[in-house]
Amino acid sequence: MSQLVWFRNDLRIDDNPALAAALETNTPVFAVYVEISKQHAGSAHQNALRMHQLRAVNGELAKRGVVLRILTAENFHQAAGAVVDLATALRCNGIYANRESGIHELERDQFVSNHFHGRVSFYGIDTVQPLGTITTGQGTMFKVFTPFKRAWLSRWNEALVSPIKVSSQLPAVEPSTEVDAYTSRRIATLPDVSHWLHPKNTLQRFVQDAAREYDELRDFPAIDGTSKLSPHLAIGAISIQSCVRSLLRGRSIGELNNGESVWLSELIWRDFYRHLMFAYPDISKDKAFQPYTDLIQWDNNQRNFEAWCEGKTGFPIVDAAMRCLNTTGWMHNRLRMVVASFLCKDLMIDWRWGEQYFMSVLIDGDFASNNGGWQWAASAGADAAPYFRIFNPIRQSQRFDEQGAFIRAWIPELKDLPDKAIHDPHGWCDKHQLTTAYCSAIIDRSKSKDRVMTAFAAAKEQL
Ligand code: FAD
Repeated sequence: MSQLVWFRNDLRIDDNPALAAALETNTPVFAVYVEISKQHAGSAHQNALRMHQLRAVNGELAKRGVVLRILTAENFHQAAGAVVDLATALRCNGIYANRESGIHELERDQFVSNHFHGRVSFYGIDTVQPLGTITTGQGTMFKVFTPFKRAWLSRWNEALVSPIKVSSQLPAVEPSTEVDAYTSRRIATLPDVSHWLHPKNTLQRFVQDAAREYDELRDFPAIDGTSKLSPHLAIGAISIQSCVRSLLRGRSIGELNNGESVWLSELIWRDFYRHLMFAYPDISKDKAFQPYTDLIQWDNNQRNFEAWCEGKTGFPIVDAAMRCLNTTGWMHNRLRMVVASFLCKDLMIDWRWGEQYFMSVLIDGDFASNNGGWQWAASAGADAAPYFRIFNPIRQSQRFDEQGAFIRAWIPELKDLPDKAIHDPHGWCDKHQLTTAYCSAIIDRSKSKDRVMTAFAAAKEQL
């Protein structure tokens, strides 16, 4: 008798119910991780973080007597087949995994259940509130965040589980050299993410020192005012439950101060998008939540898209944000909203182009949150920004990067400009009859609002 634990986006030892359950059987336990080329083709920064975390997990599993294997597959279907084959070859009588909320992931798990003639057990911990449990009086999913949050808060106590202790009676083994060699090889070709390691310290430091000021500092990209936990949550290096528990530190939700409550709301947004994706599987199939928006005639100009991707639009805050993303894999939330609005509303490019580009570069790329963010910005999603709302990139940078510290860090062409000129360098240069090496604006924004209003109204009429 032996068991196989299948690691996916839950690369951690603590708070890992699938691993805990397998070890509780007191039989030999094996572990497997499948690198899926289609799923993991994206962000080099995220892949680097994943490789470091796999190395750490490999070492921790060995202390608990578990040997980790890494397999490769092209897609979910192949991955599921490879896991079934491995479990069969190892004569395992149980496969253990933590559930994920996407439709393709659920289908993959169904395949494993159908094809493995042993016991397949799934556990759920990628959300605080179990999927499908936060519903309206009619038992349906909320389409708006505020009532979802209210219902979520009314049940927080029952949803929050104690930390899951992972204890093992198995004698320690040597960490798998195959995994060490594989991850070292990959890490050597990927960007350096060493400043991102240590998720538990990041969480502890944030809840103890910074969460109370979160409401005041979270909107300023030049300030370290947010937790930067999303990369770790995306690969499951920490659990969302541990974030809430660490924030509360034994207190009730009513005892949180304003900064802490606002941070909790952000964690609830994460749950909201996962619950939505579970309730509306079409979201995972490229569909807009508001069907009429799928009829919009996007401009989809390839050159404008490339300028946006490269940070060469001529709008400093947009370009600084995109250059920061391309170099580091990271973008501040305020800037994600600004660049997404710019792409969909000013350039009239289909939000799916931006969504895919973000997934290919973000260190915290996460399907549910990314899709939710893009549909929100494009006014296509649940509880999205109204379609006539267009972020003005110049006003956004005047407000949230007043002295231009963030812009100067990423656009060296502008570093010597005075503060008041940095948000709109072309306007300032024209006025003072100067030239700048910085690229010119790729569009005239004065026409954006009319264009968006016309496109959305035309799409609405067609439905
Ligand atoms: P904090 O501000 O410290 O918030 C704590 C945690 O709450 C985050 O780590 C995250 O897990 C969650 N959270 C915060 N804001 C949101 C939100 N709006 N929606 C859902 N969860 C949230 N987040 C991702 O994790 N992956 C993505 O791929 C992603 N893509 C986005 C794309 C767009 C266009 C937009 C507008 C937002 C996107 N977000 C995404 C949400 C948000 O920008 C990031 O979660 C946040 O910037 C991460 O920084 P942090 O960890 O310091 O967050």
